Amino acid sequence: MMRALLFGIIFFCFLSATTAQTLDPCGTIPHRSEWLANFQKDGIDLSQRPVDFRIALNAHQVGNDQGSVFKYSLVLETLAALERDFDSTGMGFVVNLPFDTLRSTFYNSHDNVLDGADMMFANNKPDALNIYYVSNPAGNCGYNLPYAGIAMANQCSGFGEKTISHEVGHAFSLPHPFLGWEGGQTDDGSVPPDYNSPAPRTVTYDYTYFQSTLVRDTLIIDTALVELVARTNCYEAADGFCDTPADYIANRWTCSTGNQSGLSQTDPDGEVFKSDGTLIMNYSDDVCQSRFSDEQKAAMQAFAQSERSSWVRTTFDTNLVRGVSEVIVDADGFALSSNELTFTSVTNATHYYVEVSDRRSFSNLLVDTVVTSPVVPLPSSVFEQGEEYNFRVYAFNDHSFLAGSSPVMQFSVPAGITNTTSAAISTISISPNPVVSGSFVELPFRKDIDRLQWYDARGALVAERPSTNLTSTEVPAHFVSGVYNLMLLSKDGDRYVARVQVIR
Ligand SMILES: [Zn+2]
Repeated sequence: MMRALLFGIIFFCFLSATTAQTLDPCGTIPHRSEWLANFQKDGIDLSQRPVDFRIALNAHQVGNDQGSVFKYSLVLETLAALERDFDSTGMGFVVNLPFDTLRSTFYNSHDNVLDGADMMFANNKPDALNIYYVSNPAGNCGYNLPYAGIAMANQCSGFGEKTISHEVGHAFSLPHPFLGWEGGQTDDGSVPPDYNSPAPRTVTYDYTYFQSTLVRDTLIIDTALVELVARTNCYEAADGFCDTPADYIANRWTCSTGNQSGLSQTDPDGEVFKSDGTLIMNYSDDVCQSRFSDEQKAAMQAFAQSERSSWVRTTFDTNLVRGVSEVIVDADGFALSSNELTFTSVTNATHYYVEVSDRRSFSNLLVDTVVTSPVVPLPSSVFEQGEEYNFRVYAFNDHSFLAGSSPVMQFSVPAGITNTTSAAISTISISPNPVVSGSFVELPFRKDIDRLQWYDARGALVAERPSTNLTSTEVPAHFVSGVYNLMLLSKDGDRYVARVQVIR
């Protein structure tokens, strides 16, 4: 009865925090599993070189019953953050493409982790770590359920955030360095920490929903030894790692000088210390968190291979996507014709996430799509002639996300590519192509053509001339090297466009 009452009080606090829009850093209260305790009991052998392998991931973009799902670019950015933070661990990730989408208002903002577990049980894909991108994962930035998967919050996702790497650390057996302090000195939160006095030798914690399987009806409490500064008990105490020093702070803290906590704590022997802010598994702010310790890396590797072998991929493609900023902005490769936008391909990219907006902030997306070649259909109904539009692209493949978004490019829509005319636009070929500026190209036909227009790569009209019975036309001598669209307009309103590579 007492337990139930206290649990009710904790749950109430949880809801209040959610209403105030401040998310708890992490909802995972991982118990130090039998597997991990066994791995640590004789010390950890770091002489083995880490093996390189990949972990299969399945990403779920969740949204409300109506409306859009979790922002695609934010999923890409969290995958990039994961790639960055795991770079030195020997573990990479390979993501099933395309991502899954799930429309459910109930799951998108769920009040407790049991609803999250139901979402995962109903939608998980086998043989992969499943990650759900939601608006509100039970009032937390994220959490990991060892038997089901990870939930990530909208406001804690992005390239600068560390939540994704922290939760994936949990998924591969890592507890918090402050294991046992999540509810203060006791599992029910009734005894807050007193950092000025020596800490107790043990603390208790409630990990009911964070065991290897879900038990819904029994409260499960464990006892953890408190880690000493002297590290004489480090393989038994707290997270069981000896290269993650003592840390008792179980709420978000800002690191100060030397990446340490401002707050001093006192261990059971009376030693005063500050927490190390660089560890991804602690609760310091994102700017300090930068690493897993060598023992943590060894544990994740071993756990993946022995306990999650169905997620492990040992043969994989190693081609990385890099340098989007150098490739995409090159206007020579950017052309508008026939209701399509074409851009230069990026080395090793198999997918491009493309955004087109009439606002520089990209707050209103007219195109929001993923393509597998560098050509994007432009829905003619939404593009108006003469208006300026903004375009950017995120190039990636299933294991490489660090290229990021290209710089923003502007283009305007040339005459003939509008929503106002029913006239068909036909794509034609001309020769020679490429052609030197100042020389002539042959026109494929003379039929009823009375005007020629040249558009540059950004869609601006740069030259125009009448055409009556011409069999060829001169490429204006002042044209710089680049891609142009040559438009042939007939008296009847028919339009023909040729993409011409001009060389100066
Ligand atoms: Zn955590």
